[in-house]
Amino acid sequence: MSRQLTQPAIAWHDMLGSVSVQAREVVCQMAAQHRRELATHFYEQMLQDEEASRLISHDQVKTWLHSAMMQWIANLFAVKSGDDVQPLIEQQTRIGEGHARIDVPVHLVLRGAGQLKVAFVALLRQSPMLDAGQRLEALWLVSQAIDMAMQIMSQAYGKSHDRNSRAEEAYRLFSVIQNAAAEQERQRAAMLDWENLLMFELAINPEGTSLPQIRASEFGLWFRHKGAHAFEGARETDIILQAMDAIDMALLPGFAPLQNAAPEVRVQQLRDLREQTSNIGFSLEALFQQSGELESGRDVLTRLLNRKFLPVVLSKVVKVAVQQASYFAVLAIDIDYFKKVNDTYGHEAGDMVLQQLGSMLVSSCRGGDYTFRLGGEEFLMIVVDVTAANALKVAEKLRQQVQDFVFNLPGEQTLKLSISVGAALNDGHPDYQRTLNQADEALYKAKHNGRNRVEAAWSAH
Ligand code: GH3
Ligand code: MG
Ligand code: MG
Repeated sequence: MSRQLTQPAIAWHDMLGSVSVQAREVVCQMAAQHRRELATHFYEQMLQDEEASRLISHDQVKTWLHSAMMQWIANLFAVKSGDDVQPLIEQQTRIGEGHARIDVPVHLVLRGAGQLKVAFVALLRQSPMLDAGQRLEALWLVSQAIDMAMQIMSQAYGKSHDRNSRAEEAYRLFSVIQNAAAEQERQRAAMLDWENLLMFELAINPEGTSLPQIRASEFGLWFRHKGAHAFEGARETDIILQAMDAIDMALLPGFAPLQNAAPEVRVQQLRDLREQTSNIGFSLEALFQQSGELESGRDVLTRLLNRKFLPVVLSKVVKVAVQQASYFAVLAIDIDYFKKVNDTYGHEAGDMVLQQLGSMLVSSCRGGDYTFRLGGEEFLMIVVDVTAANALKVAEKLRQQVQDFVFNLPGEQTLKLSISVGAALNDGHPDYQRTLNQADEALYKAKHNGRNRVEAAWSAH
């Protein structure tokens, strides 16, 4: 059964079907033959652009991008009508996602594509293998194929970019309020403190002047500076801000002078105050309740960061590394023969082991490092500001630590374990996905070479 063609695949087929075989073949041959000079032309042009050159100035990037570009040019024109174009389309999607990861703006990519067309058109003009009609077809094919590739890339870029922004937003919330439950408790107590102080002042201060404002209280300060930021956009946030204003601007001034107020007026004032403060209390509770997603960035079992924030954190780490011209390492960590632990001691014992390993990883990393549980018995550590040698030392120390550690199991049983580690170093490449892949490959090698060992991606090169 043939698979359902996607819309871009149909469009690509239509385009291929609309040109003669001769024109398509000439374009294909020329792309293969001239891909080196086309790629060189592309990067020469891009490096003249200040914005672009900042992104691709690194030597490693230049070599890597140049060969990727050559490959891309050849691939783009190698498909014949009747071929499966889906892989080609998927490749464009991956490139678009890659651009989103590295933060290459779409307009730069489009500008580069324009440069490429210019160079290709110049080649086609001189080609003796085409008559006038075929030349026109060839020009059209080159232009269309590049445009369609750009469309797919831009769409993938847009989607990834939106997804990244949403994750970034969630991470912002998450990092503002590290521990939602404790924060909620602290703020509830801070609200009560302010209320008590106000009642006390009202009781001993018959003038009713200089009453403590809620905005200046511990709670008010926290909410105005952090809470409102963390809960931005929620209806309750506005309710709290308005209630605080109502208290400070309208209700508190209304208490002065207290002795002149008729008892029923004062009772009403106190009722209004109570209403506003309980409004704040309810809204605050609702905000914390809705903020379940604050916690969802952490793995419930180990309290480590979960996979969801990996792209956001890596983007941040890459940016800082580029700014400070420093390197970072990714350690892919996997427990050896973990299935046996579950099989022998049960799932609950397995969970205890995961928790203990999680705390060990956290306590052995420095303040700027990050520790993730990617799922199952797989962990990942980002070690910032390192050299290759230091990254290896960190990995080796971890491996040794786990080997020496005695894990506690239910019922006073104990267990010895080992981990395998794959280390990769990012030495300036803007695409963190490459580093992740390298760490994965190194981990695979560590498993393959006998487990309970560290393998580094760079020693392979
Ligand atoms: P290897 O040395 O090749 O890594 O072998 P392994 O047994 O560690 O790896 P494998 O991937 O075959 O098995 C992983 C096991 O991890 C399978 C599953 O039972 C267990 N596992 C995954 N997630 C959890 C979890 O949350 N809790 C517990 N207790 N076990 C888990
Ligand atoms: Mg394992
Ligand atoms: Mg595994």
